[in-house]
Amino acid sequence: MSSAICPCGSGNLLTGCCGRYHAGQAAPCAEALMRSRYSAYVLGLIDYLLDTTLPVQKSSLDRESISQWSAQSTWLGLEVEHAELLGGKPEHAFVTFTARWHDAAGEHSHRERSAFVQNQGRWYFIDPTVQLKAGRNDACPCGSELKFKKCCSAYMA
Ligand SMILES: [Zn+2]
Ligand SMILES: [Zn+2]
Repeated sequence: MSSAICPCGSGNLLTGCCGRYHAGQAAPCAEALMRSRYSAYVLGLIDYLLDTTLPVQKSSLDRESISQWSAQSTWLGLEVEHAELLGGKPEHAFVTFTARWHDAAGEHSHRERSAFVQNQGRWYFIDPTVQLKAGRNDACPCGSELKFKKCCSAYMA
């Protein structure tokens, strides 16, 4: 496994690419985090997928179905189109990508523009399917000290 090519499509060895982040190193940017999450789907690293989702959303994730989706899909590749760093504090970013996979129902291609937020040196995926329960003037659930309306609510499209 140590000489395996990284599934994220970078062409680099897994150990010098997403494997570092799977092992605990903080991903340096949203694109790196996004790539490492794709690799985690390929490799079945479900804990990593849960741990890199916004902490307040983690308990709402369905571990079993993520695990099944990961295991029952044949992953065909990832293409990252672009990453938009939006600045601000905390830093937010969008990453636009296409992931392809094959399962019992056939071949799928899914293009998505995902939102990410950096908090205390770590990037997190903001899962758009998990509603953040906060009022517009409440503290943002991402853990920043901003009001929700000034922070992650804008990225929950
Ligand atoms: Zn990689
Ligand atoms: Zn926030």
